[in-house]
Amino acid sequence: MALLEIRNLHVALEDGTQIVKGVDLSIDGGEVHAVMGPNGSGKSTLAYALMGHPAYEVTEGEILFDGENLVELEADERAQRGLFLAFQYPHAVPGVTVTNFLRSAINSIRKAKAGQDDPIPIPELRKELLARMEDLKVSRELAQRYINDGFSGGERKKMEMLQLAMLKPRLAVLDETDTGLDIVALKVVGEGVEKLIGPEMGALVITHYPRILGFVKPDFVHVFADGRIVHEGGPELAQELEREGYDKYVPAGAAA
Ligand code: ADP
Ligand code: MG
Repeated sequence: MALLEIRNLHVALEDGTQIVKGVDLSIDGGEVHAVMGPNGSGKSTLAYALMGHPAYEVTEGEILFDGENLVELEADERAQRGLFLAFQYPHAVPGVTVTNFLRSAINSIRKAKAGQDDPIPIPELRKELLARMEDLKVSRELAQRYINDGFSGGERKKMEMLQLAMLKPRLAVLDETDTGLDIVALKVVGEGVEKLIGPEMGALVITHYPRILGFVKPDFVHVFADGRIVHEGGPELAQELEREGYDKYVPAGAAA
């Protein structure tokens, strides 16, 4: 069985509107998959359902991670199992510094793994954090600031990448990570993610624009339209979509 197996997934909004209408997707450990599609097709809804966002209800189907159905689990329980969603904490958290936030997130994962408290030693945390911040060209001062409080768009994205580097999930779900990044920040973030990818960490990259895929190279590309995967291929498909757009895959009458 693959690391992540999404089977016949249907997701509805709180008012009952069906947005994701039967998705099957398997991702093996270490693989990079891209889900690409037009705006409004339901990509973020899929990502929110993977995360366990309460506003998105799974009405049918399963999300199996390591064989375990995640559908009834809370977002933090999913994170403990090694699933990471880059927009997990998109908001400012007043009073919680970046360092403290990362420390508690790391400790919660370590605790789940060890079955008991197993806090990361502070010197180890500091050393690791400084090294990863240097990789991502994040200023040291950021670590002492309250998380996402007054961060620029680029700083937020880098913060997400810092979380990724520190938490070392088995699968990273990145939803529109390239949005709002200038080309310099995109390169830092894209190369940062690509460096983390390997046998220990795969990624599901959800995006409208293919530009991040220039850095984070997908093994498989899935075209998403009107709540479904309508076409699949290898990396060449991302280039085709860049040249030709989504028209040919979008069902008539669906949002473009
Ligand atoms: P994408 O990420 O592909 O652009 P979304 O999943 O964000 O698509 O949105 C798909 C559809 O669901 C859109 O019509 C959007 O307006 C609607 N939608 C998504 N989330 C909500 C929400 N929380 N409340 C109301 N409508 C929503
Ligand atoms: Mg979206």
